[in-house]
Amino acid sequence: MPNKIASIAIPNNEPILSYLPNSNERKQLKLELARRKNCVYDIPMFINGKEVRTNETADIFPPHELDHKIAQYHKGNATHVQQAIDAALSAREKWANMHWEERASIFLKAADLIAGPYRASINAATMLAQSKNVFQAEIDAACELADFLRFNVYFAAQIYSEQPISSPGMRNTLEYRPLEGFIYAITPFNFTAISGNLSAAPALMGNVIVWKPSNTQIYSAWTVMEIFREAGLPDGVINMVFANAVETTNLILAHPDFAGVHFTGSTGVFNHIWETVGKNLHLYKNYPRLVGETGGKDFIIAHSSADIDVLATALLRGAFEFQGQKCSACSRAYVPNSIWDATWEKMYEALKTFKIGNVENFTVLMGAVISEDAYKRITNYIEQAKSNPDNIIMYGGNYDNKKGYFIEPTVILTKDPKSLTMREEIFGPVLTIYVYDEEDLDATLHLVDTTSEYALTGAIIAQDIYAIEKMKKALTNSAGNFYINDKCTGAVVGQQPFGGARKSGTNDKAGSKWNLLRWVSPRTVKESYISPKYYAYPYMSEE
Ligand code: NAD
Repeated sequence: MPNKIASIAIPNNEPILSYLPNSNERKQLKLELARRKNCVYDIPMFINGKEVRTNETADIFPPHELDHKIAQYHKGNATHVQQAIDAALSAREKWANMHWEERASIFLKAADLIAGPYRASINAATMLAQSKNVFQAEIDAACELADFLRFNVYFAAQIYSEQPISSPGMRNTLEYRPLEGFIYAITPFNFTAISGNLSAAPALMGNVIVWKPSNTQIYSAWTVMEIFREAGLPDGVINMVFANAVETTNLILAHPDFAGVHFTGSTGVFNHIWETVGKNLHLYKNYPRLVGETGGKDFIIAHSSADIDVLATALLRGAFEFQGQKCSACSRAYVPNSIWDATWEKMYEALKTFKIGNVENFTVLMGAVISEDAYKRITNYIEQAKSNPDNIIMYGGNYDNKKGYFIEPTVILTKDPKSLTMREEIFGPVLTIYVYDEEDLDATLHLVDTTSEYALTGAIIAQDIYAIEKMKKALTNSAGNFYINDKCTGAVVGQQPFGGARKSGTNDKAGSKWNLLRWVSPRTVKESYISPKYYAYPYMSEE
């Protein structure tokens, strides 16, 4: 019965489990890892509620154990993309017209499945597919994905309840219509949570989706899809295809019913999408919504009043957790000369204890980088840095791909604040540090603001309150997520809505009301209770 108004309480963030030795969650996760390592998944595409297999497959290996096949996935082609679009469009009317609370209930159920019976499964899949350690998998796949799904429902309820005022004699309402057409969700390798959210958020608002995950994340994306299915997602609402990225994108961006793209990935790809949409504008029925969260060159700048332990910890965690493959990872830092020696001493002592290896061993901090392409790209940056006379490699700089794509945490000290590794996104465990004269804070803040094209995350580490105010103001436009006395990673849904401006994206803040608003097209309805019955107005009468 639609005769009710549900009250949606503000959700709590999913608690992060500890995985201490002998804990129940640790035992379950170990069992699940062993189970998954003992079988080879056969991963189909998913179109119109059906598993679709083809004659062409590609193998999947954990990035940290390249001789152990864990799955194969079925590659699609243009026909499958077309089928996915058709399936989405046929599912649209029923899904869009379903009471929103019923749609919400599917995603709330999915969140509970993730937090409960599927927790070990989705975490194990993420550890194996993306080489995340247990903690990184837990905060991503279990907690952040459950948070996205629950907070989206809470924000959707707020949006739907936002209504215009009505003057006497009329009733005004806003209907938050889903977009007319289908949404294209293109997802990155690095967060299982993002992969699920990019299709789930527009779907919650009544849209239908074609989802193309990153090839290097298909293994965990498939587990997300399985959970959505178990939660009761109707056929055709989210269709998952594994066809060539360029071919899929070209076909979709030329479709008249293309209504929007929900993208997270690199800036170059999003630029290309935007340009193509511009060229194809005449083909579309609507102006498509373009939502893209893209690259970063995230910074930490310390003031001479910084607490050295806080600074060293923020640099190490910010730069090297998940092998530096977070869009928010710290990859450039600015430390005043007065505290550099003490900071480096702390960092060096800690770095010597870092354990790198197979993440299935829970004592390991850093796993492998995602792929051979990433390995080549990152090690190329390291070699270029080594050959620059302005640089000193303070730590690491070695790598080895015999068993997996392993790269040491690498710290570069540079004399040139505009050197290559200070400017470009590397997306690996490489941190470049520039030591500035503490008298030159203003000039250094200007450097922080102008050195890269991105503006995603940044942090300042300082104790002096006036310095904090000054740095915060000078860096107003340098980051969409700004931290004071903390690392620049680890945004939590509902607490630090995430996204950046400049070439870091459209800053629609994933997991927030602002993002959900992009997936609706409001219709304003005015109903007159006492309607006029003659054209003339009173002022027209004779004197
Ligand atoms: P990527 O750009 O290589 O891939 C992202 C997606 O785009 C994948 O599904 C990929 O298959 C697809 N793709 C690749 N080339 C394409 C093309 N020519 N046309 C259409 N689609 C194409 O990114 P990635 O390596 O998966 O992820 C890392 C990038 O994502 C980094 O730049 C990182 O900063 C960014 N990222 C940003 C955020 C954020 O919130 N701002 C979050 C996570 C990752």
